[in-house]
Amino acid sequence: MARTYRARNVKERVQQTVAWCREHSPTALPVVVRWQPSLPCRSYAETTRDSRRFYVTLSFSRLRGSWVLANDTVLHEWAHCATWLDHRPGHPPEFWAEYGRLYALWCDGDGADEAKLYPIRRVRIR
Ligand SMILES: [Zn+2]
Repeated sequence: MARTYRARNVKERVQQTVAWCREHSPTALPVVVRWQPSLPCRSYAETTRDSRRFYVTLSFSRLRGSWVLANDTVLHEWAHCATWLDHRPGHPPEFWAEYGRLYALWCDGDGADEAKLYPIRRVRIR
């Protein structure tokens, strides 16, 4: 049985979810995931890009209380990165196809357990 790593807080768990997404859902550009204390309009997260990278920004105030919601949000934002087409806003069908594929792998496959195989860079939560 392979070694697993146990996250102690939501930030550590999200590291594992992101590592899992990297392996299961290729993106045209590297994805940088970062936390902010909060986001405008009380959003959970937002995804932007420049010419070199995607940036997924997660709201700590909105997500700190629920690992399930945080993981779901990462899968959602990752699907945006994986299906991003220039200047096509919102949630086109290809977004839902990728989000659904990832979500099924995560929930019905062994994704949530597989993610525990990824080492964690320890972070103190605030
Ligand atoms: Zn979205």
